Amino acid sequence: MGKQGGDSTSLINSQGLRLDGRRFDELRPVSIEVGVLKNADGSAYIQFGKNKIMAAVYGPKEVHPKHSALADRSLLRCRYHMSPFSTEERKNPAPSRREIEISKVIREALEPALILEDYPRTAIDVFVEVLQSDGGSRCAGINAASVALADAGINMRDLVCACAAGKIAGQIVLDIDDTEDKEGQADLPIAIMPTSNRVTLFQLDGQLSNEEFSKAFNLALEGCKSLYQMQREALIRKYFGKDGNEAGEQ
Ligand code: ADP
Repeated sequence: MGKQGGDSTSLINSQGLRLDGRRFDELRPVSIEVGVLKNADGSAYIQFGKNKIMAAVYGPKEVHPKHSALADRSLLRCRYHMSPFSTEERKNPAPSRREIEISKVIREALEPALILEDYPRTAIDVFVEVLQSDGGSRCAGINAASVALADAGINMRDLVCACAAGKIAGQIVLDIDDTEDKEGQADLPIAIMPTSNRVTLFQLDGQLSNEEFSKAFNLALEGCKSLYQMQREALIRKYFGKDGNEAGEQ
């Protein structure tokens, strides 16, 4: 959706706080739980503000149809889907153009972190199911999917963490929600591999000056780094329990 750059001054009050009370550099509350689905090889559930998203990973497994198998690496397939009850108005469950595009964007964001060469002639399926959406669902989905891939035991170079920054009421802010996205002037979702500092997702909806862009990019990078800590903590909780001892099967 293109940004109209409408009057969005009411998105930030006289104390500099946003509609939900956040400061310009504050993330929405985030919680991540790993290994929540018994039938998937790896899974994670993320609550990112009001977004509620489940990620499930199957594989490495046999490829169907066989001719789509790759001789030198695993075939990574991603499906981002919003459930009919994830939006205010019932959403048509059929995949929309937007969901097809976001599925591709998520695959491309995750692929550089996976050592797919370790699993030739197989497939890895990643499902990102949005149960409730409130803006920033692609980033939240990437964070959950990355942790679900680690939970599935897929060999990885790094995790992938994602976060957006945006421009609302003429100011650069971290992690915009649905209202801020719709009434604001720009949305810049990014994903990074935090240990190698590689950017794997970079999109910009709206317009930013060079100065605004640097500010937004650096703010989103800081957001990604906070997400990385939360992803690590979620994985440690699942595999080592709260006190650092190795946890049993759930
Ligand atoms: P993202 O969720 O990654 O920010 P968009 O910028 O495309 O992706 O969408 C912003 C928000 O708009 C979504 O999180 C969702 O809350 C809302 N939205 C997207 N598609 C629909 C839809 N078909 N019906 C209702 N709301 C939608």
